[in-house]
Amino acid sequence: MLIYCREKKTSYRCPRDGRPYIVLQTSSIGKIALMTTTLDTGISNARNVNRYLFGSGTIGQLTTLLSERRKKKEKQVVYLVDEYFETNSSALGMSSPEPEDQLIYISTRDEPTTQSIDQLTEKINGSSKKEICAVVGIGGGITLDTAKAVSNLLTNGGSASDYQGWDLVRIPGVFKIGVPTLSGTGAEATRTCVMTNKDTDLKLGMNSDHTVFDQLILDPNLTATVPRDQYFFTGMDAWIHCVEALNGSYRNSIGDAFSNQAIALCRSVFNGEDMMSDESRGKLMVASYLGGCAIATSYVGVVHPFSAGLSVVLDLHHCVANCIVMMAMEPYYPKEYGEFRTFIDRNEIVLPRDVCQGLSDAQFDALYRATIVHEKPLTNALGTGFSSEMTKTRVRELFERM
Ligand code: ZN
Repeated sequence: MLIYCREKKTSYRCPRDGRPYIVLQTSSIGKIALMTTTLDTGISNARNVNRYLFGSGTIGQLTTLLSERRKKKEKQVVYLVDEYFETNSSALGMSSPEPEDQLIYISTRDEPTTQSIDQLTEKINGSSKKEICAVVGIGGGITLDTAKAVSNLLTNGGSASDYQGWDLVRIPGVFKIGVPTLSGTGAEATRTCVMTNKDTDLKLGMNSDHTVFDQLILDPNLTATVPRDQYFFTGMDAWIHCVEALNGSYRNSIGDAFSNQAIALCRSVFNGEDMMSDESRGKLMVASYLGGCAIATSYVGVVHPFSAGLSVVLDLHHCVANCIVMMAMEPYYPKEYGEFRTFIDRNEIVLPRDVCQGLSDAQFDALYRATIVHEKPLTNALGTGFSSEMTKTRVRELFERM
């Protein structure tokens, strides 16, 4: 259906359901042809995690799950665990690994690179004297993504950069178990593991059915010791994924249902009395999983491309970068911008500000390039003509507001 709009605005929304219109053409007299048709996500035959355990204390079942994998002949398990637990192992409440297993702590200072994944896989292969029957990732998005990538590389060989893209992983990875200790990114649910190639600055995951975890353990006890700020920033990632998906044009009914439910859970957590109560942590863990399922069948919008720019150029972590970007998103997500400000105030969160102050022209150029490269999310949010809105000047102006 085509409709015409008289005034020129930054973005156009359907008065009925608030969905953004896609701008087809701008005429000389300022009237704009708009299309309301939903775009096809191109995602079919969606894959979800095979099995999950949910509830307080479910990490206690990890040993039993692994003993099923070890039987018949002696095999080893590779544990990749967030470095936080190296000095806080009691917070995990799990049994110690067997002597033949490999336990490696993952630094979360930097997000995974294809180079760091290659080095880690080489290290695991070098120390492995027995067949590896499972890779267990215990941690936040960085650790879970690392576990997914390593599992795929152990069986597929080659370098992580060979598989950055869509459906390039040839065969299933080693059986992988994900145990999130942070809620929000949805890394536990998705078919990707995000890595930056430092040689090319390409931030892109191994998007593949083989990247999906075979088993999850969703135990809300594990998020009790997360610092409040980090808990908030990471939780907001789930909310932002769903906000972007529901405001986009690539849509499907299942993705919408996952998104709506995840948003409802986030609202209840971040508008509630205590975002970190036992009940809230349980709800946010479910929101994270559902948000991951949502984004696996839809696309993000304007926030994530800008956030990727901040990560690539200024090394800011994904979740805090998203929150910084949200502060400049009033023109694109006006209603959600207001809600985000309420979440920040209610939970007394201090957000880094003016992160782009004093940057050089070359750095702003790099930010522009690292943002505009994300064509699919920008098309999802602004239509195929997104580059006429996201000019170099406009992009810089938005970064300057952050
Ligand atoms: Zn995200």
